[in-house]
Amino acid sequence: ATPTALLAGTGRGAQLGILIKGPEVLETARRVDTVVLDKTGTVTTGRMTLGRVHTAPGTSEADVLRFAGAVEHASAHPVARAVATGAAARTGSALPVPADFTDVPGLGVRGSVEGHHVLAGRAQFLADAGVALPAPLADALTRAAAQGRTTVAVAWDGLARGVLEVSDTVKESSAEAVAELRALGLDPVLLTGDNRAAADAVAREVGIDTVFAEVLPEEKAQVVRRLQAEGRSVAMVGDGVNDAAALAVADLGLSMGTGTDAAIEAGDLTLVRGDLKVAPAAIRLSRRTLSTIR
Ligand code: ADP
Ligand code: MG
Repeated sequence: ATPTALLAGTGRGAQLGILIKGPEVLETARRVDTVVLDKTGTVTTGRMTLGRVHTAPGTSEADVLRFAGAVEHASAHPVARAVATGAAARTGSALPVPADFTDVPGLGVRGSVEGHHVLAGRAQFLADAGVALPAPLADALTRAAAQGRTTVAVAWDGLARGVLEVSDTVKESSAEAVAELRALGLDPVLLTGDNRAAADAVAREVGIDTVFAEVLPEEKAQVVRRLQAEGRSVAMVGDGVNDAAALAVADLGLSMGTGTDAAIEAGDLTLVRGDLKVAPAAIRLSRRTLSTIR
């Protein structure tokens, strides 16, 4: 490939809203056959909002919101922001400040609030701590997940006290972007740490058949490696700190310009406006740039 053609491609990319780390990236992009898409913040807006609150018998909604809001306030996760913001707005008072706090990536948060040990996160996170959901809360969680919601189970002092529903919206252009990737002969795959039902609901909405759900942050890169071991050339599109390792391992890492610095640093290429439709545009650009060279 001539350097001039590659440089011209890089310049054209900038016009399309694609920042390319180096001209060689276009060569890799041309060979890609599989595109792994992170869900939250990539296929969806990642601007989540708090929905229904389910409580265990004898527990008030206000307490569930106060304790969950307090521990989530300290986390930067999109789910945490939705819970903290929603809790502060609904309780109409300032949230207590946790005495200590731990963010467990891909699972949830725990902290000490007004002398109570609070957990908020996936049901699995509570189960790992020996806390089971009573049937009414487990049912509420299953129903919410089936509707595509992300759920946050809340416990304190060793007992499950509530389930919060959080919803995200699929970006307007995501379905079209997936259709364009397919038209280019690429295989779209959805990869997320979120629950299986919520992941499947988003996949259906945008037209993806292959879904890896409930994948812990450190396992995301392994999923990419497994696809590569099948002989695929893999592009990964992501926005989060938890996508950085997968972006680095992928043959081509595309990071959302609206995402975290860690993701942007790990990617080969940045979609400046965070518009997923620029992903197929980048592949088309690489093919066009290189076909004019050969
Ligand atoms: P994704 O792969 O969709 O970007 P993550 O790997 O960051 O998601 O998180 C996976 C799941 O773990 C989330 O969907 C959520 O259910 C749960 N989770 C992670 N962090 C938190 C948190 N701070 N509070 C509540 N739940 C969380
Ligand atoms: Mg994400």
